[in-house]
Amino acid sequence: MLNSGPSARRAIPSLDRLLRLDAVAGLIARYGRPLVTEAARAELAALRAALSRRTARPDVAFDDRGFVRACAARLDRETQPSLKPVFNLTGTVLHTNLGRALMPQEAAQAVARAMTRPVNLEFDLEGGDRGERDLHVERWLVRLTGAEAALVVNNNAAAVYLVLNTLAQKREVPVSRGELIEIGGAFRMPDIMARAGCKLREIGTTNRTHLKDYAGAISPRTAALMKVHTSNYAIHGFTAAVAEADLAALARKHALPFIVDLGSGMLVDLEDYGLPHEPTPRESLAAGADVVTFSGDKLLGGPQAGLIVGRAELIERLRRNPMKRALRVDKMTLAALEAVLKLYADPRRLQAALPTLRLLSRPLAEIEAQAERLLPALRAALAGTAGAEIVAVKSQIGSGSLPVDLVASCGVAVSVAGKRRNAAAAQISSAFRALPVPVIGRVKDGAFIMDLRCLDDEAEFLAQLGELKFEPQRH
Ligand SMILES: *Cc1c(COP(=O)(O)O)cnc(C)c1O
Repeated sequence: MLNSGPSARRAIPSLDRLLRLDAVAGLIARYGRPLVTEAARAELAALRAALSRRTARPDVAFDDRGFVRACAARLDRETQPSLKPVFNLTGTVLHTNLGRALMPQEAAQAVARAMTRPVNLEFDLEGGDRGERDLHVERWLVRLTGAEAALVVNNNAAAVYLVLNTLAQKREVPVSRGELIEIGGAFRMPDIMARAGCKLREIGTTNRTHLKDYAGAISPRTAALMKVHTSNYAIHGFTAAVAEADLAALARKHALPFIVDLGSGMLVDLEDYGLPHEPTPRESLAAGADVVTFSGDKLLGGPQAGLIVGRAELIERLRRNPMKRALRVDKMTLAALEAVLKLYADPRRLQAALPTLRLLSRPLAEIEAQAERLLPALRAALAGTAGAEIVAVKSQIGSGSLPVDLVASCGVAVSVAGKRRNAAAAQISSAFRALPVPVIGRVKDGAFIMDLRCLDDEAEFLAQLGELKFEPQRH
């Protein structure tokens, strides 16, 4: 019991007594003693702080049940997974901050198998001795790109690093000034080249680079020629870039390897699915590239990985670089990648089977019909605090793919009228983020906009709308 006056703080029961309460035993069974002790300590400290700030009344009796409830709530909060599902209604299908590609069930099952059972990761089942981990996916990559050999590392940044570090350390690589890309702040081609130990030789200008610029830069210090796909921007107007085939011929003339960093790099022709063309590793190899690097979790629709395909002799040199060990992928990545690559064997089934492709090619009419279905429920949930209307929007592929070509889509815009539009849009956005499965949209022109292209689980979206808490601030 808490008494009034200065003795009140002494009336808070001891931690020991509280941990012996029957109701606390239930919490210990569920969460384990260390977490429960920590939570109980934190609750007691909060109560003492409230008493000393006089925000709690010292004359109110200590309430065991209330204390246990507070501990339970704290434990529930603190043991929620930090990495949790969200609705990606940003309009960017491959959103780096939201985990890029969604993977098919086949991949999830393959990962679960590889995680929970011993597997022949680096074990040759025929010979009974040591095997090579990349072999599990190499045959698929070779088949899908026409390369002689393939290798897998942690992401495409690692792929570019490994290629340059192996083939160009302490030597020069000429790169067009129009291709010195930055992807999402952390990946800058000049920085990666410096860390890989090779010297960037900038050639040409931002908008125009010619074959003679490459030819003029070649010296005994040159290690390779390189072309970087400008995945997340486009230079328009008076421009010139050198075609892969011409660069390949120049490289061959000087006995230099020709490297292409494709970034996204799709394994099939996207035009077959009604989408804009995206360069494929097969095209680059056919044009004469010796090594091509691309991401596993961009358009390919698989796990985070960096894929390197090309000439067997060069791939073997990459494999022998000690850095390969530091950049290698684990069994979960390989299991997911193998399952995804296998889907590409049947291009007719691919569209339905691969979530990235299914979402990107989702028919506009289907998204519009979904918006019509959701509108009444959204309006009901907002209960007049804000308006909701259907808007035409444009989805983008994201993660540095096809920056210029946007795909027509449909969304719902939530906004309030009047001068406080912009502030309200930010509050609406935060109310949707506070839902049990946070809804991530974007704020644009004074409205919170949800692009419905990637809304798969409509029922789950609707079921939680009743918990939306948005109170417009009035003045
Ligand atoms: C995305 C991209 C990278 C980096 O790939 P990650 O898989 O994100 O590491 C490198 N180069 C290009 C051209 C890219 O588009």
